[in-house]
Amino acid sequence: MADDLSPMPDDWQRALAVVAHPDDLEYGAAAAIATWTDAGREIVYLLATRGEAGIDGMPPEEAAPVREREQRAGAEVVGVSTVEFLDHRDGVIEYGTALRRDIAAAIRRHRPELVITLNHRDTWFGVAWNTPDHVAVGRATLDAAGDAGNRWIFTDLVDEGLAPWNGVRWVAVAGSERPTHAVEVSAGVDRAVASLAEHRAYITALSDDDPDEYARTFVEQAVSANKARFGDRQSVAFELFGR
Ligand SMILES: [Zn+2]
Repeated sequence: MADDLSPMPDDWQRALAVVAHPDDLEYGAAAAIATWTDAGREIVYLLATRGEAGIDGMPPEEAAPVREREQRAGAEVVGVSTVEFLDHRDGVIEYGTALRRDIAAAIRRHRPELVITLNHRDTWFGVAWNTPDHVAVGRATLDAAGDAGNRWIFTDLVDEGLAPWNGVRWVAVAGSERPTHAVEVSAGVDRAVASLAEHRAYITALSDDDPDEYARTFVEQAVSANKARFGDRQSVAFELFGR
């Protein structure tokens, strides 16, 4: 399977990244985000929750603002200044039309050509069970790319002034066990490390390692994982669905 990943498309200007929790984009995809914003592309983050159930020793009402702050800081490092939260409940996000509608509304507002999300499959590489939040948000995002373009789905959004946007050309799934495409990210690695390290309260609760070292170890391993499949380059790989 040498060099079997195709280069990610680069003929686009706007992307919307939709994930369940603060930190989901920082565990890998942020290196690609940094590379793309360097090239002048506009990327918006949309989070289904504030990650309020993510820190065992911190009750949700305290964790939500901490994690929101950490997410905004992490986004800023990789050139993303717009971060929106849908305020679904962390840990119990329900896949369904309410979630699809919220994501479709964001797609209509931001009119991206590329939508990015995180692994929507049952497992991580057949090894670890995925969380229901990731599965729900990943699937709803893949669905909402179509919903956003159909004026007869969620007609109340049209009433609110959100015209259909049928311009999503691809949905790219990060962390997929079946990647098809990749983007070279060596120039973005240091900022991806800094971006993950911004999730300091979260990482400190998770690991005894220094947050900066923890972030560097994780990101460098992640961007090197597909070297043999992409010209020995540091990359972020995606499973790309065209539309
Ligand atoms: Zn997550």
